[in-house]
Amino acid sequence: MTGSVAPIPPGSTIGILGGGQLGRMLALAAAPLGYRVHVFAPEAELVAADVSAAVTRADYQDRAALSAFAASVDVITYEFENVPSDAVAFLESLRPVRPGHLALDVSQDRLREKRFVEGLGGKPAPYWVVDSLADLDSALALSGMPAILKTRRFGYDGKGQARIDRVSDAAPAFEALGGCDLILEGFVPFEAEFSIILARCPNGAEQHYPACLNTHVGGILAESRVPAVGLDSAHVAAATSLVVRIADALDYVGVLTCEFFACADGPVFNEMAPRVHNSGHWSIEGAQTSQFEQHVRAICGLPLGPVRLRAPAIEMRNLLGDEADDWQALLADPAAHLHLYGKSAAAPGRKMGHVTWFRS
Ligand code: AMP
Repeated sequence: MTGSVAPIPPGSTIGILGGGQLGRMLALAAAPLGYRVHVFAPEAELVAADVSAAVTRADYQDRAALSAFAASVDVITYEFENVPSDAVAFLESLRPVRPGHLALDVSQDRLREKRFVEGLGGKPAPYWVVDSLADLDSALALSGMPAILKTRRFGYDGKGQARIDRVSDAAPAFEALGGCDLILEGFVPFEAEFSIILARCPNGAEQHYPACLNTHVGGILAESRVPAVGLDSAHVAAATSLVVRIADALDYVGVLTCEFFACADGPVFNEMAPRVHNSGHWSIEGAQTSQFEQHVRAICGLPLGPVRLRAPAIEMRNLLGDEADDWQALLADPAAHLHLYGKSAAAPGRKMGHVTWFRS
């Protein structure tokens, strides 16, 4: 535990690495608490910058730009987990970075993440390290099919993975994923998928949201619902206790999300994201304190907010690609809370916005 740490008071500036919709919603949540946001990211289109006080458009390896960014902010966080860990370690020498680079190192590598979670008593999907076709053949003999071949690093939204249903799928999948630094996962015949979102402060105080029931299509989150009706409450409690152990072991500060497969004999850990998460977007309208405000509170060392639901049931649906073109119909629905991310070009599967409904 970090012990008592002076809060970073309202009026300070929060630096965010990454400029997508998560950064945008973080900046929007920081404003009512009196914080300014400075976004640092390399991409041309930065939808977080549209609502931020300052932006630095530079490469994560640009040490001069990183130094100037650090000098202009009071605390630094990140909104996606593929920020280079050495850039985060460099920034840590200049300013508090919350969560720090340890959480990033663990979550950037599926193998390290699984071993870390096993060390804390969690159960991941069965897995085998694959660095050659021979490794893949022997792993498939043990896993059976279907199985899922994944890159160890830089996967997200179902990218960097291929399902293997028959022997003839193996070599093309292996080539397509680059032929080394891979992991084969046995297919988990889950009943449902859920996530646990937890916030942890520098003094170790923690607060978690009710479990979210998630539906993925093609590896991309389509819908989240709370409460997670139908899940075994003992299994949810076991998953939540694992997330607490993960956060404590990392001396984590901020919002942490872990995704699980709900199976008959208990929760299977899928993966963690050291950040606010798509499956928590319902909390903007649906919880007393949104995951974005909670992250701001946690990284600034403020007291965490209450997380009670504002409706008996809440449903969030992503607007992917041209689904966001339905904005007029969604605005006409009095029960719908529409969020559009301001991205210029819709591509298939691209997250363009989301809608939240209160249900009775
Ligand atoms: P990931 O990016 O690894 O979380 O994978 C995206 C989605 O693919 C998951 O949310 C699941 O719906 C599915 N998936 C990934 N790995 C497995 C697995 N080992 N068994 C069954 N489904 C999986």
